[in-house]
This record gives sequence, structure tokens and C-alpha cells, in this order.
Amino acid sequence: MIITKDCNMKNHSSMKIGGVARQFIEIENKEELYPLLKNLKNYFIIGNGTNLLLSDDFLDFDFISLKKLRKISIIDENRLNVEAGLDFPLFLNYLEKNNLSGLEELVGIPGTVGGLIFMNGGAHGREIFDCIESIEVLDEKGNILIIEKKDLKIGYRYTEIKENNWIILSANFIFQKNFNKELSEEIKNKRKNSQPLEFPNLGSTFKNPSGFFAAKLISESGLQGYKIGGAQISTKHSNFIVNIEGATFSDVTSLIKLVEKTIKEKYNINLEKEIIVLK
Ligand SMILES: Cc1cc2nc3c(=O)[nH]c(=O)nc-3n(C[C@H](O)[C@H](O)[C@H](O)COP(=O)(O)OP(=O)(O)OC[C@H]3O[C@@H](n4cnc5c(N)ncnc54)[C@H](O)[C@@H]3O)c2cc1C
Repeated sequence: MIITKDCNMKNHSSMKIGGVARQFIEIENKEELYPLLKNLKNYFIIGNGTNLLLSDDFLDFDFISLKKLRKISIIDENRLNVEAGLDFPLFLNYLEKNNLSGLEELVGIPGTVGGLIFMNGGAHGREIFDCIESIEVLDEKGNILIIEKKDLKIGYRYTEIKENNWIILSANFIFQKNFNKELSEEIKNKRKNSQPLEFPNLGSTFKNPSGFFAAKLISESGLQGYKIGGAQISTKHSNFIVNIEGATFSDVTSLIKLVEKTIKEKYNINLEKEIIVLK
């Protein structure tokens, strides 16, 4: 394993905010994981940090990265086992090259396979679990479990993985033939036109409340473009908060609180954060 002590975490979050952490540990095989965890008191599994807002104070965590676990193994012509650390965009490239269809709508999501599984990531009505048969996880007692999708609680941007403190090691995926290049290009373009990809961000800040779109509520409440310090509610997509210039953790959390308060007062809706805040 590779250990970086006193690791500056700024570049490990796509918001480009983060203080120094106790350690950043990259494991090189899954057997290293449990013996390591037994000796750590406050660890946090990190993927690509594309959904993580990190405090810019000292981060009293040992961050563990599975990014070196990124193998794709062929089970049969429609099925793959994929390790959790694989970059999701690289996985989609693989599917395109191998003409496998099922996750085209998710093109452009910048996480790792493990990160998407953790929260059942998705877009345009499709979710990663639509193509998953089972997941392989490490539980708190050090057991490696294979859990069939039918036995797992999953929902909109939700899985029970968090409550159970499981670490995702890999998943078995099932696909159809014929990758839909046209659809994936269309979605890539939609993202380019509707998302502020030119600034550091974490994607959608809030989940869509049942029956509503968070972005619509925020823009209708007049907050689009509002700035606190270096953070702004994106003028391009109002559910995105962007780091326009040297934003601090407090700039972003203040904006989040302002949105939550405004939406509660105007619509009596409690917005739930999609991003994960770590301090
Ligand atoms: C420009 C942009 C667009 C985005 N668009 C979308 C979108 O359309 N749809 C969508 O769903 N999301 C979207 N996101 C959010 C983000 O990419 C996803 O939430 C993604 O799944 C996060 O993956 P990650 O590897 O970066 O996880 P991280 O941000 O590093 O971590 C997120 C959570 O996952 C946990 N985790 C990660 N790996 C594991 C593992 N192996 N085992 C256990 N827990 C793990 C972490 O502990 C943490 O709690 C977007 C983000 C950006 C920046």
C-alpha cells in the first residue's frame, strides 16, 4: 500500500477545497484492507471525491483509496465483474469499445464505480443498479460478502451500503448488446450545455424532492447566481454550487444553508443534500 502522511486533500475533491488529512492510503489489493482497518480509528473510503465537500481545517481521518483496484473481468459475453476503484468514465469507454449497452445515460458522471454503487448514481431515469446483479463488499467484521441485488435495499440515490458500513470491492454487471453511441453523444452534449463544467463543482448539491426538481425550486426562488465569497449558485445550473475563485468550505456551507432555509420558507420543502459533507 502507498501511504501519504499529512496529505493535502484539496486535489482529492472535485470542489478543490480541502485541508490536510492525517493519512491518505492507497491499497493495492483487497487482502490488505481488513488488517489495515483494524488498526485505524477513523477511516473514510474515498473514490474520485466528485461528491465530497471537505472541510479546509485539519481532517482527522485516514482516507482510504481503492483506485488501484480497477480490474474488469469477463464472466460471459454479457456479464462483467468490475472492481470498485475503476474510473466510471473509463468503464463506459470499455462498454463502448466492447459494444455493451445499458449505462449510456450515465455518460459524463465523473466518479468511480464504487462511488456510483454507494449512492446508486444515475441520470436521465437510469441508475447504475439497473445493470448490476450482485455486489461484493467487506463488512465490519472482515467478512467478504456477495450480496444479490434483490437482497439489497436500493432507491433514488440511496443504498443500504452506508448504514451497514460496507466497503464495496466489486460488482457483477449484466449488459445487452449494441452500445448506443447516438444516445451517449446526445447526453454528453446535454451535460456540456447545461452543466458548469468549467468550474470546480460536485454535481447536484441536493436530491430532487419527490415530485419536484431541486434546480427549478432554486431558480424560481431567485437564488440562481447568488454568491458567498468564492462560491456561487451556478448561473448555468442552479442545483450546482461552483467554486468560482478560491471558495472556502464555509462559503459553500453558507450557500447550502441559505438555499435550504429559502426553499423551506417559500415552499415548505426540506431539501436533502446529495453531496457528502466531511469535517
Ligand atoms: C460534474 C459532475 C456531474 C455529476 N453528475 C452526476 C449525475 O448525473 N448523477 C449522479 O448520480 N451523480 C453525479 N455526480 C456526483 C458524483 O460523480 C457521483 O455521486 C459519484 O457516484 C461519486 O463517486 P466518487 O468515486 O467520486 O465518490 P466520492 O465522492 O469519493 O465518495 C462519495 C461517497 O461514496 C463512498 N464510496 C466511494 N467508494 C466507495 C467504496 N468502494 N465502498 C464504499 N463506499 C464508497 C464514499 O465513502 C463517500 O461516502 C456528478 C458530479 C460532478 C462533479
